[in-house]
Amino acid sequence: MIGIGPRTSAQRRNGPGPPGVLAFIPAPLYSDRYEVVDTIGSWLMSTPDERRVNGARQRLIDLLADDEGILPGGLVERMTRCGKSNCRCVGEPPHLHGPYVQWGYSQGRERITRRLSARQAERYRPAIERGRKLMELLIELDEVEIRRVEHAEGWGR
Ligand SMILES: [Zn+2]
Repeated sequence: MIGIGPRTSAQRRNGPGPPGVLAFIPAPLYSDRYEVVDTIGSWLMSTPDERRVNGARQRLIDLLADDEGILPGGLVERMTRCGKSNCRCVGEPPHLHGPYVQWGYSQGRERITRRLSARQAERYRPAIERGRKLMELLIELDEVEIRRVEHAEGWGR
C-alpha cells in the first residue's frame, strides 16, 4: 500500500497545504480530473450524485496529501501464556502476561502479526489509524460511484 517513503525537499518545504486547497497537492496525486472540484460554477451545476462523488474523492485527496505515513491492518491488545509450566500464567486462576500490543496485517493471502513495544505502538498507531480511514474512504467512494452509475444508467435501486 502506501509506505512511509522519503519525501522530496519540495514536499518538505511546501507541506501538505491547507485542507481543500488543490494547488498544494503533490504532483503524483494531482490530476486535471480533480481541477473542476472546487470551481464554483461546476459545483453549482453538478448533480447531487456528482457532489457526493466529489466530496468522497476530496476526503481521499486530503488524507493522502497529509504528509504522514499510512499503514495497513490494525492493533489489538493480547494477554498470553509464556509456556513455562511453573509460571503464574498456568496457575488457578491463571494470571496471564500482558497486555501486549499486536499489529496484524495481510500481505496477499498471508496474515502477519508483530508484537509491538509501547514505544513502537505509539510510533505506528497514527499511521495505522490513517490506513483504516483510507479503507473507509475507499468504501465510501465505491458506494457513491456505484450509486451515480446506477442512477445515470437507470438501472434502478
Ligand atoms: Zn508465564
